[in-house]
Amino acid sequence: MRRAATTAIALAGVLSVLAATAQARPFNDPRAERIPAIEADAAFASQPRDPACHTSTLASTGGALPAKPSTLAIRWTGFANFELSYKGQIMLLDAYFDRGSLLPPLGFKAADVTRANVILIGHGHHDHMSDAASVGIRTGATIVGAPLTTAKLLSQSVDPQKIRTASGRESLVLDFGAFKVEPILGRHGDPPRTLVDAFDAALRATAPKPTEQQLAEFAAIRSRGVQDPRVVTEGTLAYLITLDNGFRIMYRDSGGSVTDFEKAAMERTGWVDVALVAVSASYLNTETVPRALEHVRAYKPDVYIPAHHDAAYNNLWRATEPLFQAVKDENPAIVTVSKGYREPVCFNTEHNVGRTR
Ligand SMILES: [Zn+2]
Repeated sequence: MRRAATTAIALAGVLSVLAATAQARPFNDPRAERIPAIEADAAFASQPRDPACHTSTLASTGGALPAKPSTLAIRWTGFANFELSYKGQIMLLDAYFDRGSLLPPLGFKAADVTRANVILIGHGHHDHMSDAASVGIRTGATIVGAPLTTAKLLSQSVDPQKIRTASGRESLVLDFGAFKVEPILGRHGDPPRTLVDAFDAALRATAPKPTEQQLAEFAAIRSRGVQDPRVVTEGTLAYLITLDNGFRIMYRDSGGSVTDFEKAAMERTGWVDVALVAVSASYLNTETVPRALEHVRAYKPDVYIPAHHDAAYNNLWRATEPLFQAVKDENPAIVTVSKGYREPVCFNTEHNVGRTR
């Protein structure tokens, strides 16, 4: 009995040392496990940890920006929101932060976002842009969107000088210093009606009903987005983001099918380092998996980070594991990452597909 206890204590000691070593890594570029070229400096535990890569405070709400100019920190903040921080710049992808009491809290409010240089809005539905105007006005960030999105921003008192409108059909590269951004016409998801109706009915029958107050709160949030049916075909943009050293990110905030515009862009580009892609809203894995495979085949990312998989309390989170398994069955080298709200993933961008392929 005593020996077992001693062994357990010794084992706990070893595990805590291992955990401390793992935490000491200044970078957590998930590819470092497989690619020795990525600086993982695990051996240099004496190096100061970069707070940007180890705390859950967003750079845009006053947290640290990456200390090294080559470090990119990516944080997911619910639905298809991401924060990218790199070389002293902050880019927000979508802006839907004050989600109301029907959804799990993100740990910060739109009013806490005080720093951002650029905001890219994938499409104008409220769950992608409801806080874009207020955050844009407070931070002075430039906001990029499709015509339907930016028309809404203009109606919300955003300075026209701070707005860039893109159809995604033209060849346009926006230069934001450390970031270059190419808006590409995507397509919104369009889940099969019969499937959605069946799930909605089941959820209504089994989940707690929203209160009158919650419904009013939801209506107010929804009014800060676009409800035009044209969002599906002409209001959804994918963004190809290229850092000054060639590191590439594809961002897509809705799980629709890949368009010819995206195919053409990827034909020119080849691969991306990271794909940040919304999971299809079609609930069933028989629907979400083929769509995720379609995205991954088109963008050819080294690292796949899904989005839009969380949900309101009275709805369902979309499972990411079936997607991860399917993409790995097809490409065992792909790295899949899904973190909690605000948890950083840091990349050493000196290692990137532009240089290594
Ligand atoms: Zn939408």
